Amino acid sequence: MERMSQLNFMDIYKLLPKTNCKECDLPTCMAFALALVKGEKQPKDCPPLLEPKYKQSLDKLNELFEGVGVGGKDLHIDIDTEKCDGCGVCVIICPVNARYCPNSLSGKLPDFPPNEYQLFQIKNGKSELLNLEYCRRLEAEGRERECRVCEVYCPRDAIEIKYYTAK
Ligand code: SF4
Ligand code: SF4
Ligand code: SF4
Repeated sequence: MERMSQLNFMDIYKLLPKTNCKECDLPTCMAFALALVKGEKQPKDCPPLLEPKYKQSLDKLNELFEGVGVGGKDLHIDIDTEKCDGCGVCVIICPVNARYCPNSLSGKLPDFPPNEYQLFQIKNGKSELLNLEYCRRLEAEGRERECRVCEVYCPRDAIEIKYYTAK
């Protein structure tokens, strides 16, 4: 899948109808955008998006959230160390870190030893990926396997979720 250029959370939100109609069972389109990046909803779960006038937006969202490679063993999460400035957003925002590493939520994550489930840590001013095997894309059930929170929320566009074709 070719990645949408300069993807961020607001880009995704802008592709939604922004009417807050609640037909998706969420209170706002903003909440729906968050559910999309967490893998808890799919674009088709927004009924208004299925209307012809939103076709272009739906196509773009489907391209982004189509879940290519989900369940495969060839998942890679690349961190571009040139772009990364060690801000720590990925440490705090990754749902796995948030669930298993309470210290990450307070910003008091120790450099070492990391929690066994911890996916990201900041070391020497850069983000490091520790335990990819606990990423929702490999571990979770259902739509959560389409999580791309870290990629979407990285303010430096330094994280890229990739799948390489298994030989
Ligand atoms: S159904 Fe679609 S338009 Fe309505 S609140 Fe949910 S995301 Fe927004
Ligand atoms: S969110 Fe992006 S820029 Fe910030 S530490 Fe993580 S990879 Fe680096
Ligand atoms: S894709 Fe994986 S590493 Fe990224 S936020 Fe989701 S669970 Fe964390």
